[in-house]
Amino acid sequence: MIEAMYTRSRLPDDIISRIFVLVVLQDGDPAILNLALTCQKFHSIVCQPLFLEEAHFSWLDSVVEWKSLPPQHRDKYRRPYTISQCRYLLCGGLYKDCGAGYKGNGQRGVLQGFYSTEDYPGYCSWDCFINDGGLD
Ligand SMILES: [Zn+2]
Repeated sequence: MIEAMYTRSRLPDDIISRIFVLVVLQDGDPAILNLALTCQKFHSIVCQPLFLEEAHFSWLDSVVEWKSLPPQHRDKYRRPYTISQCRYLLCGGLYKDCGAGYKGNGQRGVLQGFYSTEDYPGYCSWDCFINDGGLD
């Protein structure tokens, strides 16, 4: 439906991008993949680093009351994530690497937790960390 609206109205990419940020806030990170698979035009919009950053910060700002926290906390934890490759060779999957800090699925107001340290840096999951000899 969004694609049909886009085709008919020829909205500027900037407006489409802002609408997509709202879609991601509503549906969470899986919406990014769904939009990317819709057509090449949508793919090019949602794969731009600026779009991913805006979606991430929109989510982050929806779960953290920055004004009530010291500026150093904001400087340390209000930052973009990276896409990293899992160190476990049998996995090797790409994952959303937030490092220490706030974790969530991108849905507005949904916070999975705050982690002051990374429990398994470089791995996409606890399972990959353990399977790669993590606690040995
Ligand atoms: Zn993995």
